[in-house]
Formats: sequence, C-alpha cells, structure tokens
Amino acid sequence: MLVDAARRLDAAGLNVNASGNLSVRTARGVLVTPSGIPPDEMVPGDGVVLAPDGAPVEGRVPTSEWRLHLELHRRRPEIAAVVHTHSPEATAAAAVGRPVPAVHYVVARFGGRELPCAPYATYGSAELAANVAEALGARGTACLMANHGAVALGLSLESAVALALDVEWFCGVHRRARQLGEPLVLADDEVDRVSRLFEAYGQP
Ligand SMILES: [Zn+2]
Repeated sequence: MLVDAARRLDAAGLNVNASGNLSVRTARGVLVTPSGIPPDEMVPGDGVVLAPDGAPVEGRVPTSEWRLHLELHRRRPEIAAVVHTHSPEATAAAAVGRPVPAVHYVVARFGGRELPCAPYATYGSAELAANVAEALGARGTACLMANHGAVALGLSLESAVALALDVEWFCGVHRRARQLGEPLVLADDEVDRVSRLFEAYGQP
C-alpha cells in the first residue's frame, strides 16, 4: 500500500525528483518509504519498518526524513499516515516562509484557520521534525515547511495523499489570486463553520 500511495503522489506530480516520502503506522512499527528509490522502481517490501528510536527493524535504508515521520506519529497517535512532498506550488509558498491565509474554504481541512508554515531547519534534522510538529500543534493536519516543502497527515495513506493534493491546489489558488488582486480572506468564524460541516460530512 505504501508503494501504491507513492505512485499516486508521483502520478499527481507531487513527487518531484523522488523527493516525496510517506509513512504509515502498522502493528510492527512505523513503515516509511526507502531512501533514493523512485516510486516507479519501488516494489512491495522496499518499505522500512522503524523502531521507536528510528533504527530500521527491517527493509532498506529509510528516507532521510525518517525523524520527521517518527516524530509526527509519536506526537499525534490519532493519525495513521504522513505524506511529505516538495510539490511545486506548496514549495513555492513555503519559500515565502509565511502561512497561507484562508483564501478558500478548503483551508478548514488543514485543521486551523490558515495553512501554517514551520520555520526552516536542515532536512532530516530533529530540529526540523520538532518545528513541523509544533506548527501542526494538536489539531493541524497539514503545514508548509519554510524553504523546503509541505507535510500532510491522514487517518489513512489515502486521506494523507488526498490532503497533500488539497495543499498543492490551495497554494496554487492563493498564488493565482494574488496575481489578479488582493485575495479576500474568509473570516475565522466562517472557517470554523466549514470545519464543523466537514466534521459532519465525515472528513478527516
Ligand atoms: Zn523534503
């Protein structure tokens, strides 16, 4: 299932130069994508099961962002999957280093009133993992990573991949809207209302 999800990211144009990586919680531990294997070359069994200290229990060398994945699974036990991408629109927005405001009601899927942006730290570092976990907080489901990319959480791999697509689309809408004029930003209480509607609709 990890390989299928990685290929879906690839097919959607989110997995730029094999930079995307994913993880899913399993009974054996957190299963992450391997380092440096493009999705079209991955085969079932290439995933890496990590121990709580990050040591590979089985499989290949894990993605260099294994600390990010482990930290998010540790801090957010209610989620099952993490997707990290360098997708173009999200990464461009992250290069500005600011949250993306509520220019569309889809923002409510991200668990807050804007799409937050975690401060920069070196890729693969524990500091980056902590920055992202703090930007997401207790309820956030997606955030940008300054000068790096984006992350999306899900109750399943499918929902995390779908949310990564929402992040990419939302950042693209914001960029185009800014080219046309000063975007209107939804009021906090409207975003809150949409969040309740999404919950009633059964969205993660
Ligand atoms: Zn990355």
